[in-house]
Amino acid sequence: MPKPYTRKTKTRRRKIMIVYYGYADGSGEYYIVVDSEKCNGCGECIKNCPQNALEITIMMVDLEEQQVASVKEEHRKKIKYTCAPCKPEQKTPPCVMSCKPKAITCIWKRV
Ligand code: SF4
Ligand code: SF4
Repeated sequence: MPKPYTRKTKTRRRKIMIVYYGYADGSGEYYIVVDSEKCNGCGECIKNCPQNALEITIMMVDLEEQQVASVKEEHRKKIKYTCAPCKPEQKTPPCVMSCKPKAITCIWKRV
């Protein structure tokens, strides 16, 4: 069974929230990762995602509402398949390429 599909990490300053959308299973690890401190809600990653897998959501960051990119709920448990056409293990995918603040990254490791 895949592990839980979101994981949230608070850094040492306890302000930044890094959200991992995806899971690890017997074949590897598959996560789209959004750093809420760097994300400015510009929407460029959403415009450039060929699978329409991303959206802007309101998230509480250090008790303040902030617009940040996230993976749509319906794609979180099947991210390995949703993102497969972008070949994240071989090249930088469009979401990462389009993000000037470098707020979105991929962790894609096959075992
Ligand atoms: S392109 Fe980067 S900064 Fe803009 S919404 Fe996407 S993750 Fe956030
Ligand atoms: S890897 Fe491709 S399909 Fe997955 S979120 Fe990024 S642009 Fe969209």
